[in-house]
Amino acid sequence: MTVKENSQQTTQIVQLPVLGEAAQQSYPTGTLYVVATPIGNVTDITLRALHLLALADVVACEDTRKTGALLARFGLNKHMVAAHQHNEREAAEKLVQRLQAGERVALVSDAGTPAVSDPGARIVDAVRAAGLNVVPLPGASAAVTALSASGLVNDRFHFVGFLPAKTKQREAELAALKPMAATLVIYEAPHRIVDCVEALAAVFEPTRQVVFARELTKLFEEIHRCPLGEALAWVKADANRERGEFVVLVEGAPQAGEEGDAEAERILNILLAECSVKQAASLAAQITGKKKNALYERALQIKGE
Ligand code: SAM
Repeated sequence: MTVKENSQQTTQIVQLPVLGEAAQQSYPTGTLYVVATPIGNVTDITLRALHLLALADVVACEDTRKTGALLARFGLNKHMVAAHQHNEREAAEKLVQRLQAGERVALVSDAGTPAVSDPGARIVDAVRAAGLNVVPLPGASAAVTALSASGLVNDRFHFVGFLPAKTKQREAELAALKPMAATLVIYEAPHRIVDCVEALAAVFEPTRQVVFARELTKLFEEIHRCPLGEALAWVKADANRERGEFVVLVEGAPQAGEEGDAEAERILNILLAECSVKQAASLAAQITGKKKNALYERALQIKGE
């Protein structure tokens, strides 16, 4: 296997014993394998996924052209069947029959982990209901990838996925999410990113931190964190920001006992717009009575320093 390190240089991976390990494992027949695929960078596929895809009797996928192109990158030419949001139930029935006949079926989506804002859950449900075996092969998912690089310190996250397209419904859903302490994880299509930020700004406090994780693992990957009050200006500052794929993370609501923190945060944000980090921390400490060091650390985080 070769890996492109940059456009000029290609490095050969030599004899990694672990490559053979994937082949030595057991892959029972009559099993549905739920296989995660890359979310952009084609080399983010696992060794086990590659081995299983090579071994599978059939690959069930959303779009046979897209998955065919991915498989071709690894030199695989497999029998594929379509399993997308418009035929998932019928596809499930046919896949159950194949599994009952003892085939190994790989289930993939266009990108990332099947059944995460993608088709797959109905197929897995039908396979389980038929008493057949389901094995997940984990890998990339945009939500977890974005969270890992966000720096939002919170043990909890709430996966929202796609918000409703209609303004009223979207704002109603956001209003229901507003009190949650968990980080919110939102998927958004590029043509709706401005609407999404406008809706967030209409419902949430301007001091909440948001993280835009755009084009993850791709050439123009961009991860930007700012207070919600500055988010729309950031999106609009570059026309390219209305293109590409986005995960939007929203900091969780301050909980009881943290209200003072929210107020300190609001004051800190106002001061940071006018003063240095040191001055803002010092003034915020005088206004709120909170510790200057903690405010200084927080100010650095807000400024991304
Ligand atoms: N199943 C996928 C997963 O595991 O993440 C999600 C599929 S969903 C149809 C597509 C959405 O995921 C996009 O609109 C975007 O919100 C997010 N997404 C997928 N790939 C991404 C990437 N490379 N960078 C940022 N967001 C991405």
